Amino acid sequence: MLRELIEGARKLGIKLNAGQVEQFELYYQELIEWNKRVNLTAITDYAEVQVKHFLDSLTVALVLSAEEIAKPDFSIIDVGTGAGFPGVPLKILLPEAKIVLLEPTTKKMAFLQHIIRKLGLENVEVVNSRAEEAARLPLYREQFALVLSRAVALLPTLVELTLPFCRVGGRFIAQKKGEIDQEINRAGKAIAALGGKLQQIRKIELDEFTDTRCLVIIDKICPTPDKYPRRPGIPKRRPI
Ligand code: SAM
Repeated sequence: MLRELIEGARKLGIKLNAGQVEQFELYYQELIEWNKRVNLTAITDYAEVQVKHFLDSLTVALVLSAEEIAKPDFSIIDVGTGAGFPGVPLKILLPEAKIVLLEPTTKKMAFLQHIIRKLGLENVEVVNSRAEEAARLPLYREQFALVLSRAVALLPTLVELTLPFCRVGGRFIAQKKGEIDQEINRAGKAIAALGGKLQQIRKIELDEFTDTRCLVIIDKICPTPDKYPRRPGIPKRRPI
C-alpha cells in the first residue's frame, strides 16, 4: 500500500505512521471517486498521485522547523488549494496545525469538506472565496505564519494573492516546477511592493521527480499596503 509515497517520504526524512498511511489511502480513493463527477485532477494513476500530489505536497515540510510548528500561534493557509494540494497532505502530516484551505470553486470546496470529514481532520477551515476577497477580511488578513500555494499563478500575480495573508515575521512558500529564474526576476517589484523579501530558492532533489521542482521562500518583512490585493482578476490581468 502506497509504496511510492512511503519510500519518497522516507527520503525526505518523514516517517508516516499507520494512521497517516490509511488517511492517504482513503484520500486517494475519494479523490478518484469524486473525480468521476467533479473535475479535480488530471492525474489519477495510483503511483502518480502518490508522487505528483501527495509526496510533492509534503516537500514543503523540508523547510519547516519543529520549533515553528510547535508555536501556539502557528497557522497555515493554502491559497487556491483545488483538491487539497498541498494543504491536506500537510495537515495529515501535522495533525495539530491550524489550517485554512482557500478555494473559490464551489464543487472543489464540497470535495474538501467531504474529505476533511472522511479523514477526521480537525482544525481545518474551508473558505469558498477568491484570494482577492478573503485577503480583505480582518479574520484572514496578515494572520498566518505560513502561506502556501501550488500551481495557481505566475509569481508576480501570486505574491499579490498570497502575501496579504502572511503576518509580518511569517513566510510564503510557492511550489514551482521547471525553469523559474526569469519568473523570479519579474516578481522582484511585486514582492517588495507587498512587503516581502526573497529568502531562498530551495531545490527539491528526489529521484521520484523527473522534472525540476523547487520551493520559493519569501519572508514577510513589513505589512502589505492597504491597496493590495487589487480587485478580483486585476492581479492576473495587470501584474505589478
Ligand atoms: N493547488 C492545487 C494543486 O496544486 O493541485 C490546485 C491547482 S489548480 C491548477 C489552481 C487552483 O487555484 C484552482 O482550484 C482555482 O480555483 C484556484 N484559484 C485560481 N485563482 C484564484 C484566486 N484568485 N484566489 C483563490 N484561488 C484561485
